Amino acid sequence: MSPDLPPVLAERLPALRSAAQAEPLGLYLHIPFCLDRCTYCSFATTRDRELQPATVRRLISQVRAWGEALGSPRVDTLYLGGGTPSLLTPAELTELTAAVREAFDLSPLREATFEANPGTVDLAWLQQARGLGWDRVSLGVQALDDGLLGRLGRIHGEAQALEALDLAGRAGFRRRSADLMVGIPGQSLAKVVEDARVLAATGIDHLSIYLLDLDKACPLRADIDAGRLSLPSEDEVADVFEALQEVLPRLGLAPYEISNYARPGAESIHNTRYWERRPYLGLGPSAASQLGAFRWTESAVIPAWADGRGALDLQELDAAEILAETPLLGLRLHRGVAWGALRSEADARHLQPLCDGWEARLHDLAKEGLVVWEGDQVRLSPRGMLLSNGILQMFV
Ligand code: SF4
Repeated sequence: MSPDLPPVLAERLPALRSAAQAEPLGLYLHIPFCLDRCTYCSFATTRDRELQPATVRRLISQVRAWGEALGSPRVDTLYLGGGTPSLLTPAELTELTAAVREAFDLSPLREATFEANPGTVDLAWLQQARGLGWDRVSLGVQALDDGLLGRLGRIHGEAQALEALDLAGRAGFRRRSADLMVGIPGQSLAKVVEDARVLAATGIDHLSIYLLDLDKACPLRADIDAGRLSLPSEDEVADVFEALQEVLPRLGLAPYEISNYARPGAESIHNTRYWERRPYLGLGPSAASQLGAFRWTESAVIPAWADGRGALDLQELDAAEILAETPLLGLRLHRGVAWGALRSEADARHLQPLCDGWEARLHDLAKEGLVVWEGDQVRLSPRGMLLSNGILQMFV
């Protein structure tokens, strides 16, 4: 039994190892530090940088422990997320990357992404990351308007966001993605479309567009509850997404998932694995993993995680839950789900009635124009994408 794995997972190691050996994994590493806290954020992050050395040390030791426990499995996508991974010191980034290379088999690696905050990157840091083998950068731009960025508590302005995209290009990153946010109080439809146009013109190959999602406890929620700010209506938000679905393909960025647009061949391979329900290992506070029938989330309490005391939330999915995840996640993709393969899997697991029930409802939704059947392939229509939250409830 590996001494550095949580006991509840060490007990299940044979099953986890066999899932990890069956096909290449995605490896996600969470860096839970930020210079300041955005007013809408509900991620597991802290401004307490004094915790950084111990947290990174533990992350490196977890990389080694898991690589050894799973038998140095193949990894085909890497993702350094946060928080703000661009706050790693050059020495920390070098050591962490080296630990990953030693502990895992990266021979099938197809993509190595890190997230960066435009307020924290400089050319030297980006060049170093590129030199270590990271080949894709995802920048949290959120909006190109200093007033809106200030409202979100972002540490950067519009000019810095555009400069960071430029620096990433100069550092040799051909794969550059930006995040844009919809639903910020005071943001107009025309402004979102204009920002998307400006970002597309920078030559990025990927754009993620997220709806502002407010946790109960965040400061922006308090401003809204107190009536100091107001959110756009659902109809206004739907209009923005509809307009973007029309405008972005003309700018070369085609939708491939509910919130994601890419130039042909530049879809995020790591994120697509989540929607295809392919295996991944996540390390760091709050990181999630899925190997075989097991899914777990690590403690979000950063000091507890750093000294190995954090509680783990582990779930073992049954056959019906695993089957349901294929359409639940796969219908987020514009190409949809191969229903014939799903039906065969349902037959093999004696879950035909469950599959038949979904199929009937998807045919009903097709009559309402929300779902499209093309032979045995089923997908959501553009209007279905706008109403996906309700539609996908049938698989929960
Ligand atoms: S940069 Fe991202 S993770 Fe950090 S506080 Fe802002 S939203 Fe949260």
